[in-house]
Amino acid sequence: MSHDRIPLAGVIGSPVAHSRSPQLHTHWLKTLGIPGYYIPMDVTEADLEGVLRTLPKTGFRGVNITVPHKEKALELADMVTDRATIIGAANTLVFRKDGQIQADNTDGYGFIENLRQNAPDWDPASGPAAVLGAGGAARAVIAALLDVGVPEILLSNRTRVRAETLQERFGRRVLVIDWVQAGNMLEDAVTVVNTTTLGMVGNPPLRVPLDGLRKGAVVTDLVYAPLQTRLLIEAEKVGCVTVDGLGMLLHQAVPAFERWFGTRPEVDTATRAAALR
Ligand code: NAP
Repeated sequence: MSHDRIPLAGVIGSPVAHSRSPQLHTHWLKTLGIPGYYIPMDVTEADLEGVLRTLPKTGFRGVNITVPHKEKALELADMVTDRATIIGAANTLVFRKDGQIQADNTDGYGFIENLRQNAPDWDPASGPAAVLGAGGAARAVIAALLDVGVPEILLSNRTRVRAETLQERFGRRVLVIDWVQAGNMLEDAVTVVNTTTLGMVGNPPLRVPLDGLRKGAVVTDLVYAPLQTRLLIEAEKVGCVTVDGLGMLLHQAVPAFERWFGTRPEVDTATRAAALR
């Protein structure tokens, strides 16, 4: 083909209508003057492979992958980055010029960058981290925390066996705490992370006792609807540094956008506003 195709990217999930990624990437495309498009696509598991093999032929440079296809996308990819292998799921695919599909996972990167930007004095190596929840997002968070030198991760999940599976995956720096004891583990933590769906609109709030939270600890919630969860409100009252979950969503998108469209975008207040529209 002699002409350049319009650069395209998008997000594949089912359902996908709730995704904030289209507003976010469209905002960056517009502000950077890139003549591309970012499209939400609702795709069934049965159609996933066919869609992924077809999209590169139409100008797609890659896609984000969301629930429920993150594990399947990893299986279908021709190449997988180390961090996606460790996490066991892909959230970003890059369609390479040689026809190969590369799977990556940028959730852990987004998680760390959000804390670095919004809690600049955060020192992950200065003490244990407490992680609530052991689902897909927890895997990315734990991998990222270990990577930045957290000495120990206290991990608690309603279904204990899922936390134990993560301990086997990540090794002895992860310590499993029973869900009924989750409040106690907060006392030692300099970093506290909610990776459960508790506190999200339509779900019950996080009922773990929060009185053990330590003044000065950095507390973050992956839930970003609402932006101010009970965890963050209570943590702020006792003098913790709080960081909401929207920044993680924004930062995980940066490396993907750069790979697809060739320019590294900024995460600033206009980016936040665009994602919330
Ligand atoms: P997931 O794999 O379905 O895991 C859900 C987690 O929530 C599990 O640990 C589950 O415990 C726990 N949970 C659910 N209901 C509970 C209840 N009633 N009581 C106690 N624990 C409960 O989901 P995920 O993909 O990890 O996502 C988790 C959250 O992170 C979601 O709110 C998602 O929107 C958010 N997230 C945010 C970002 C971001 O960029 N900010 C990125 C990724 C995910 P069990 O194992 O006992 O079921």
